[in-house]
Amino acid sequence: MNLRGICAYRVSEQHSERTCPVCNCALDTITIEGIAGFAIERCGTCYGLFFDPEELPVLIAATVDNVYSVNMKTLWHLNQTAPLNERRKAYVACPVCRELMNRVNFGARSGVVVDQCKHGIWLDNGELRKLLEWRKAGGQLLHEQVVAEKAAREEKERERKERALLKESSLVFSSHVRGAHNGAILESESLAMLRKVATIIGKLFV
Ligand SMILES: [Zn+2]
Ligand SMILES: [Zn+2]
Repeated sequence: MNLRGICAYRVSEQHSERTCPVCNCALDTITIEGIAGFAIERCGTCYGLFFDPEELPVLIAATVDNVYSVNMKTLWHLNQTAPLNERRKAYVACPVCRELMNRVNFGARSGVVVDQCKHGIWLDNGELRKLLEWRKAGGQLLHEQVVAEKAAREEKERERKERALLKESSLVFSSHVRGAHNGAILESESLAMLRKVATIIGKLFV
C-alpha cells in the first residue's frame, strides 16, 4: 500500500459511491491524519487513489516540504523509469462523471502521467510515491525555476520590442518634421495626406 510510510491514514467504514476506474469495484474513503477535512478514495484491489482536484498538490506539499535544491542525478533516474501506468494503455473513466479522463504529465515534467478530469486525479499504485520522490529530488523546484526564467525572458523580449517600436516611431516623426522643414516630403503617407488637404482647401475656395 503506497500510503503507508508516507502518512498516517484511516479507512472509513463506509464505501464510497464512486467506483474504481480500473477494477470497477467500490472505492474506500480514507481520511489523512493531520490534514483536517482531507478525504481521498482508494481501491482495495489495485490500490489506486482518487483525489479531488485540489487535494493532491496539498498532500504532496504537506508530505515533502523544505526542498531547496535540485538533484539532477535523481531526477534523471526517475525519468528513466517507464511511466507506471504504461502497462494499461487504455484511457479510464472518471469515477464521478464516467467520461474518459485525460492523461496529463503531473507538474508538467514529473514524468508521472496521471489520469485527470475536472472532478479529480486518479493515481495508479506507486504513482504517489514517484511523485513524492520527484518533489523530494527538487523536480517541482526545477519546474518552478524554468517557468520563472521563461517569464523573465518573455518580459525582457517585450521590453526590447517596446523600445524598438518607440525608437521607430520617433524616427518616423522626426523624418516628418525634417521633411516639412526642408520642403521635401519623403514619406508617401505624408504626400497622400497633403493631397487630401489640398483637395479640401480647393473645395473650400471654389
Ligand atoms: Zn482498482
Ligand atoms: Zn469527471
